[in-house]
Amino acid sequence: MFTVNAYAATSATEPLVPTTIERRSVGPHDVLIEIRYAGICHSDIHTARSEWGETTYPLVPGHEIAGIVTEVGSRVTRHAVGDRVGVGCMVDSCGECVNCRNGEEQFCVKGSTMTYGSVGKDGQPTQGGYSTHVVVTEDFVLKIPDGLDLDVAAPLLCAGITTYSPLRHWGAGPGKKVAVVGLGGLGHMAVKIAHAMGAEVTVLSQSLKKQEDGLRLGADHYHATSDPATFEKLAGTFDLIVNTVSAKIDLDAYLSLLAVGGAMVNVGAPADPLSLNVFSLIFGRRSFAGSLIGGIRETQEMLDFCAEHHLGAEIEVIPAQKINEAYERVLASDVRYRFVIDTATLS
Ligand SMILES: [Zn+2]
Ligand SMILES: [Zn+2]
Repeated sequence: MFTVNAYAATSATEPLVPTTIERRSVGPHDVLIEIRYAGICHSDIHTARSEWGETTYPLVPGHEIAGIVTEVGSRVTRHAVGDRVGVGCMVDSCGECVNCRNGEEQFCVKGSTMTYGSVGKDGQPTQGGYSTHVVVTEDFVLKIPDGLDLDVAAPLLCAGITTYSPLRHWGAGPGKKVAVVGLGGLGHMAVKIAHAMGAEVTVLSQSLKKQEDGLRLGADHYHATSDPATFEKLAGTFDLIVNTVSAKIDLDAYLSLLAVGGAMVNVGAPADPLSLNVFSLIFGRRSFAGSLIGGIRETQEMLDFCAEHHLGAEIEVIPAQKINEAYERVLASDVRYRFVIDTATLS
């Protein structure tokens, strides 16, 4: 074990504070990563504040990690010292169940080990990327292609794969009309990726406040959902709607925007159950679905795709000392579009 600097939540109500944590020694299949950047995801805030079940404290959040390999275990074959690498929401899984064998470790039957807030194979709580170093089993370490800078690559490890996976699964591409609901951390990546895949992209946002950004990021159209005329105008239009908003919305109104056979996929999750009128699905053979990040193989595919199309996240780099301030700004939707912690400020 060795000690590293980190920022941790110590309770649901206190601000995060600088601290030190123990990382496990590098085992035969492990990679030691010097973290350079860590994105701030909305999930970090939910978990730090015990809003998704009871959190064990202290908790070091962060599952959008980009850095450099500084040591590898004796049996490691996939990575070498000096490699540019990333770690996303998972750091381990059983490796044997049907879903793991299919490369969908996020659906591991035994439950995948999350980057923070889980218990690792060593019996210790996992701690995330608001830290200077992390030790991860090689199979869960991604390669960041040279075409992507580490700071703009970090948010791809959660926001990127969370939107890439449903866009791929539901066939976004030329001739397809894709709507993205909400232009935040997830939404801005959904727009960039769907556009790069060749789809015709529409942003559905509460207001037209971010219209200029949306069009610059690759959207073809931009509509305000606060205007009832939007729902009349766009009825029956979309093959796919990716909903990135975790607030409660009028599902029937959004489902009415789908073409026959269209799907609305949720990647944001409101805390309370939602209701919908099943006729909204029956008339039009529509689907209402969800999607969770992506497997390791698909995450690598996403990073390679983003490098090829020069797609990084739009970021604001902050020192660790501004994490608490950044949390308040995320909650106020005052970020364009992802905060990324420069972990050099932790040492
Ligand atoms: Zn996340
Ligand atoms: Zn499994």
